[in-house]
Amino acid sequence: MDFESWWLIFVPLLFALGWLAARFDIRQILSETRNLPDSYFRGLNFLLNEEPDRAIDAFVEVAKLDPETTELHFALGSLFRRRGEMERAIRVHQSLLSRADLPVSQREHAQHELAQDYLKAGMLDRAEEAFTVLKETSFGLAALRALIRIYESEHDWTRAIQAVQSLRKLVDEPVPQLVHYYCEQAQAALAAKPPRVAQAQEALKLAERTAQAAQTGSGSAASVRVALIHASIAGSAQQTLVQRACFQKVLEQAPEFAGLVAEELLQNFALTQESADGLALLQEHHNRFASLDLFNVVFRALRAQQGVDVAWGFARQALQAHPSLLGLDRLLEAELAHAAEQQTPLESPIPGADLTLLRRLINQHSQRLDRYVCRSCGFQARRYYWQCPGCNAWETYKPRRMEELE
Ligand SMILES: [Zn+2]
Repeated sequence: MDFESWWLIFVPLLFALGWLAARFDIRQILSETRNLPDSYFRGLNFLLNEEPDRAIDAFVEVAKLDPETTELHFALGSLFRRRGEMERAIRVHQSLLSRADLPVSQREHAQHELAQDYLKAGMLDRAEEAFTVLKETSFGLAALRALIRIYESEHDWTRAIQAVQSLRKLVDEPVPQLVHYYCEQAQAALAAKPPRVAQAQEALKLAERTAQAAQTGSGSAASVRVALIHASIAGSAQQTLVQRACFQKVLEQAPEFAGLVAEELLQNFALTQESADGLALLQEHHNRFASLDLFNVVFRALRAQQGVDVAWGFARQALQAHPSLLGLDRLLEAELAHAAEQQTPLESPIPGADLTLLRRLINQHSQRLDRYVCRSCGFQARRYYWQCPGCNAWETYKPRRMEELE
């Protein structure tokens, strides 16, 4: 038989086999569906039409008719949770767990669902307990990730660190916030009464080691935070030059964070009667890396050290290079505050201008721009945060005010 005639038999044979297979599948599906109650299809239909309320009613009916249907209970439980009906979700998953005949894999699944219910309901103690039970199961990874979040929200940094270490044993995934956990530990030790400095230093050492291992760049937010805590320890120990070196490191390695250290840097230079050098350093930095926070500090220091003309000269130049409503507002604010302090008539460099009125007008508009903003959730804050209070993400704030962001 040559090649072409062989195909003439083979192709119809393939069609016949396909037809038989399809018939077999359809028969099986039909026999299975006959066993399902109508409510099941009604429920499905409601789900497809995005009517979850009615879908739930239909599924609850099915669940009553056939209490053994575990998959349906899982579906119902997760529907309840998604809709925020936590009590009902918890009840469904608890009733699944109470079944003695449930296979191990489904028991673990139900336990995981219940833990998620507790977490979403904000019952952190119970969620922690439920996830802890799952650590050694097939849900171990998910449980550890959830436990890290729980310990973090409880500010239990020691256990958060332990959970990250357990996670690392299971999977090689980066946990960039680990550096911040050590920083938080260090700050808590420093804030204790009396401060536990040795403990803070130990935590800081681990933070540095973690940053190195994660190859976090020296200009990263985490490295700035470590330098700031070092500076605060040095400051408490009256190690002025060590503290100065920490601030200078931030200026060199993470220039955009200068606004966060500027005020303290000036105070540091003042301690050694070198205020002018400190100010010159900041002014020079501002020429290369202008920012509103830095502008503010430099302007006030110039005003105090070198008088109104020099300060306004600097401000005019800075505002020309980077026109900014907030900059102008801060300038006027400082000017008015200074006049009130001195109880002298206002030396306005703009003859005849009513600075109070001008400032009030500008301030009305600049207020909403005077905030740091989270790039993950958009939460706005007046002070700088390493962790967003809105979405709990780490390092989502740039050290720049809204007005300066594109
Ligand atoms: Zn956020």
